[in-house]
Amino acid sequence: MPHNVSVIERYFDHAATTPLAPEVAAAIRDAEALYGNPHSLHSAGRAAMAAVENARDQVAGLLGAEDPSQIVFTSGATEGNNWILRSFGEGDVGPFEHSSVREPAERLGFSVLANEDFRVEPARTPFASHMLVNNETGTLFDLASIRGSATTFHSDVTQALGKLPIPLDGIDIATFSAHKLYGPKGIGAVYLKDPTLPLEPLLLGGAQENGLRAGTLNVPGIVGFGAAAALAQARMEEDFLHAQRLREVLLEEIERVPEHRVIGGGQVSPYILSLSFHGVQGETVVHEVDREGYAISSGAACSSRSTEPSHVLTALRLPDPWLRGTIRISFGRGNTVESTAGLARALTRTVSNLRMMLGSAD
Ligand code: PMP
Repeated sequence: MPHNVSVIERYFDHAATTPLAPEVAAAIRDAEALYGNPHSLHSAGRAAMAAVENARDQVAGLLGAEDPSQIVFTSGATEGNNWILRSFGEGDVGPFEHSSVREPAERLGFSVLANEDFRVEPARTPFASHMLVNNETGTLFDLASIRGSATTFHSDVTQALGKLPIPLDGIDIATFSAHKLYGPKGIGAVYLKDPTLPLEPLLLGGAQENGLRAGTLNVPGIVGFGAAAALAQARMEEDFLHAQRLREVLLEEIERVPEHRVIGGGQVSPYILSLSFHGVQGETVVHEVDREGYAISSGAACSSRSTEPSHVLTALRLPDPWLRGTIRISFGRGNTVESTAGLARALTRTVSNLRMMLGSAD
């Protein structure tokens, strides 16, 4: 079925997930014919394995990895993050991590690095983990200054891959998902600078992926990931400039709304814009603009159903009326200048109506 263009233009939640690129959908359709198990010795198996290895090359190419053997396919960033944290078992983690790092870290007793307005203190443990781009605010972290004395440094680069160059120089292990870059859901990978690192596998039961990740390979998913990676590599600059332009358009329009703030601090990825409107509820704003056909988020999709302010905003120690008035807009290929200006107008109207209803002067 063709995508509904006007709906995609108004979809501003690319940090939660992205629509499949048409090129990727075509690659997946072709891969469906590769029915062999890639680990079988017959020609059907070998054909599937050749497609998997081609995709591994494409993912390694986008990341800037030296060798495709450094890429281990997983079901996504959540699996990769759980695997890596469990495998090391102790260390330091960042204060703004996605829940797939934060929750295993909490359970395992990792310590959380302190921050002052997004400036994170350097790690002191042999293993440390810190994300490259925060999924709620778009903050881009200087990993070189956070690495500290860690000898093995892991970074969840899910919100950066395909959007920004990944500073692999200072990263030993990276985790990411395909569906944030117009690839399929349920597939991702772990990058290992040293593929012989003695990691404890999360899943046992097969020799796939060098014995690091058991289970029959998801051939269509992996092929789709490869196609998405190749496309993202070819379009990286164009996509980046597009996101930057849309962000400017939105911010210019929003300038007129009294008592708003951009949440972020320091360097930010242009793809994610976190805004807060004093005194209104972020979730109410999300519902109101949805009635006009615009998809935005009140935080990370995985936590936005909770009524509690997210740990990211709490870690920033924002005062309560700002904390609850936060929304996240995340830009992508399908958005246009017109639809972005339309979203800004819908937001302006909504915030003004809500404040009028609540009886607060604006
Ligand atoms: N890390 C970050 C920074 C994310 O934004 C996400 C997706 N919201 C994940 C990890 C988890 O990705 P997935 O759900 O594909 O496993």
